[in-house]
Amino acid sequence: MAYDTIVEDNIDVLVVGAGLGGTGAAFEARYWGKDKKIVIAEKANIDRSGAVAQGLYAINCYMGTRFGENNPEDHVRYARIDLMGMVREDLLFDMARHVDSAVHQFEEWGLPLMRNPKTGTYQREGRWQIMIHGESYKPIVAEAAKKSADKVFNRICVTHLLMDESKPNRVGGAVGFNVRTGNYHVFKSKTVIVAAGGASNIYKPRSVGEGAGRVWYAPWSSGSAYGLLIQAGAKMTQMENRIVLARFKDGYGPVGAYFLHLKTYTQNGAGEEYESNWFPALQEMVGKEYLDPEVSHRTHRPIPTCLRNHAFINEVAAGRGPIRMVTMEAFQDPHLEEIGWHNFLGMTVGQAVLWAATDVDPKYENPELTTSEPYVMGSHATGCGAWCSGPEDISPPEYFWGYNRMTSVEGLFGAGDAVGGTPHAFSSGSFTEGRLAAKAACQYIDDGKATGIVVSESQINKRREEIYKPMETYRVYRNAITAGSVNPHYINPRQGLDRLQKLMDEYCGGVTVQYMTNDYLLEIGLKKLAILNEDWENGIAAENIHELLRAWELKHRILTSESVFHHTLFREETRWPGYYYRGDKMKLDDENWHVLTVSRRDPETGEYTMEKAPLYHIIGEDEG
Ligand code: AMP
Repeated sequence: MAYDTIVEDNIDVLVVGAGLGGTGAAFEARYWGKDKKIVIAEKANIDRSGAVAQGLYAINCYMGTRFGENNPEDHVRYARIDLMGMVREDLLFDMARHVDSAVHQFEEWGLPLMRNPKTGTYQREGRWQIMIHGESYKPIVAEAAKKSADKVFNRICVTHLLMDESKPNRVGGAVGFNVRTGNYHVFKSKTVIVAAGGASNIYKPRSVGEGAGRVWYAPWSSGSAYGLLIQAGAKMTQMENRIVLARFKDGYGPVGAYFLHLKTYTQNGAGEEYESNWFPALQEMVGKEYLDPEVSHRTHRPIPTCLRNHAFINEVAAGRGPIRMVTMEAFQDPHLEEIGWHNFLGMTVGQAVLWAATDVDPKYENPELTTSEPYVMGSHATGCGAWCSGPEDISPPEYFWGYNRMTSVEGLFGAGDAVGGTPHAFSSGSFTEGRLAAKAACQYIDDGKATGIVVSESQINKRREEIYKPMETYRVYRNAITAGSVNPHYINPRQGLDRLQKLMDEYCGGVTVQYMTNDYLLEIGLKKLAILNEDWENGIAAENIHELLRAWELKHRILTSESVFHHTLFREETRWPGYYYRGDKMKLDDENWHVLTVSRRDPETGEYTMEKAPLYHIIGEDEG
């Protein structure tokens, strides 16, 4: 193939994916590595990439310690109960103690943070959330990263990590291709920080036809945070903890500002409060420890996100839908009405357009909500991701192997969605995690841990062949098309994605089965997924560079899905009712499953091994 090979050598810190995690990493790497070579590889363009690309109306993780509002311990308690106990408290605490300084920097760089005119503090939306004028949040933060990095390579789809051939289980860089020119890009690096995205579109979305592509998380997030790490043999954690979101119907408009700031609430189709009706039965399933409305009220901690979903899902299944957001009261106040619309215009303009197009005025009509298809990610109310080392001062030995945010592969770090067990980081927390990872990566290099890395030409050439194989498959077999896009020799990426979405939906607890699965279904799903993967390996075809991108995104989605299957099968309980249900094990089982789940896929054989890791509660119960 005629594409050039472009080699970038002698990199110290390679940042893969420049969303909020990656930008934080590049920024901090420059501080600790004044003379180090810092390079960013980004699939889109750093100015508008990642989950924050289209803007945000709130920063959902800000302690406000300098204003005496909250301390990091409070945040750990909040995230812990929201996730039904399953978090990495060391990583969470570490993020929470540093996150405020990141937010203050954003303000210095020009991000308009709203102020409360009475107190002079930042305008709170909720206990943890502050309000911003955030349409340009990403370009503002990107500028800092661009100034910090030696080079930014935009439009590079990173497909694989390179491995050191002199020492097992040590990283040596990454490879990918330019989605515009098609050129093959090789990055040889001492350390790699994977800060790519979580996964949308691995479950069949509710949106179909002309609405397809309208999803909650960024549609371009193809699970590369997981696909890259899993391929390299990094251990993963909590991959079963995929999230379902309550959202405004069809536009996926977020609900946080409405619930927290506008003080709106939900009702069933008949206009009744329904949530509390489901709580007694739910308490039977999960235990009083996890669901006690009185304690929630007293400690200002919300009912866990998944349990609120549970009430929603069951009320609809009982025939009393739709669930509506009661906006008609709040919207009588012109100021709140304005905020309600601004909230969407700043981050989910599609919801505002949809309401306008379908004649929904929330001042006169309570809009419908829905529960979304599941997403695999690690920075909202969910903690999928890699099993990473915590910081040296607070992590117990099982959580610490030398360098903060380093995965189980040496020299390979994570940030944002890539790091497991750290929910409720959101944008600011992901940026902070990037900073922490970069600081540790610089230390790792300075400690002499990255010397003597060997990446041979044969490894580089082998990857090159693999990457372009789908185009070769197309070239060889294109004349065998029988009708439309049907070809007996290959599948195209869209066909593969449709198959993946259908099987994840039906066997791994998607929307059409009300988030329900069990052992039998998971086993069948895994078998079907293995066949899909075989079809990918033996014959995925790409007609052009764009399809090549789609083919590799699909590969990362398949790897992510396989991990979700194995984790879901392994955890023999229903830990998060409302996210998914194991029909054969409908109760939360603290006796056997008060643990974190850890997996590893052997890169040579593709075999999975699963283990339980201890769940340490580092932060006391002291009510804050
Ligand atoms: P969202 O708009 O749903 O993405 O959420 C923004 C923020 O609000 C996140 O920190 C959520 O955890 C929080 N949030 C959303 N809905 C609620 C609720 N009903 N109660 C408490 N917190 C919420």
